[in-house]
Amino acid sequence: MSECGSCSSGAGPFSEGKELVEFVYGAHDGAIKDLPVPNDGLETKCQGCGEPFTMKTFVDKCPKCGGVHAISPPQSDDQANIQFAGKDFKLPE
Ligand SMILES: [Zn+2]
Repeated sequence: MSECGSCSSGAGPFSEGKELVEFVYGAHDGAIKDLPVPNDGLETKCQGCGEPFTMKTFVDKCPKCGGVHAISPPQSDDQANIQFAGKDFKLPE
């Protein structure tokens, strides 16, 4: 992970909110977002609707409202680092 073109654009693994979500989503040409979160995922609560769910991949959606959440791999040992993109954010399909 030393040569990373995405890391020089301003947003980075320690950004917050939507910026972090977009960063993780696009990191390494999309190779990161579908990787499993270590230790069988992170228990969290949707920051949009409060529904408990488990982050299974570095970018994941609330099963109830579809709210997009992400966590960056260097911070993936603590659910407090999960960032929420905001209620109106939709991932590009
Ligand atoms: Zn939700």
